[in-house]
Amino acid sequence: MVQPARMKRATRAVRIGESRCGLGVFARRRFITGDSIAEIRGKVIADPEYWSAYCIDLGGGAVLEPAAPFRFINHSCQPNCELVDYTRWDDATGAIRHMTRVRAIAPINSGHELTIDYAWPSTCAIPCLCGSERCRGWIVAEASLRELLESIKTN
Ligand SMILES: [Zn+2]
Repeated sequence: MVQPARMKRATRAVRIGESRCGLGVFARRRFITGDSIAEIRGKVIADPEYWSAYCIDLGGGAVLEPAAPFRFINHSCQPNCELVDYTRWDDATGAIRHMTRVRAIAPINSGHELTIDYAWPSTCAIPCLCGSERCRGWIVAEASLRELLESIKTN
């Protein structure tokens, strides 16, 4: 569940807006490379069979189903953000807490869209409309692109 104080902090950094493909996440201020922008809040689902267009693989058969605003972060083959996983001891619960944060990997001006590389496996690939100079043509992990193109050729 999203805590109001944290939600306020996240929405001060970003806003949801109209993007080239539906909704997207936009910077409300300037970020420099390396800035930790906000934590992605959401629901951890420990089911290896679970899938949604928004979920983030946490490894070990668990996924994070992100809440707004980062539920709407779009893919780019030339992204300006990355997701960083880390764990922290939570004094309140007395347990280790898993967190995923959005970090800037390039300077982002206020009003610009935040994007990440979805890096999907070739079995989940769909055509990419990101429009970046380095667009791979498919939303797929860079390492899986050759495998995807080979499978298209043989089918
Ligand atoms: Zn692309």
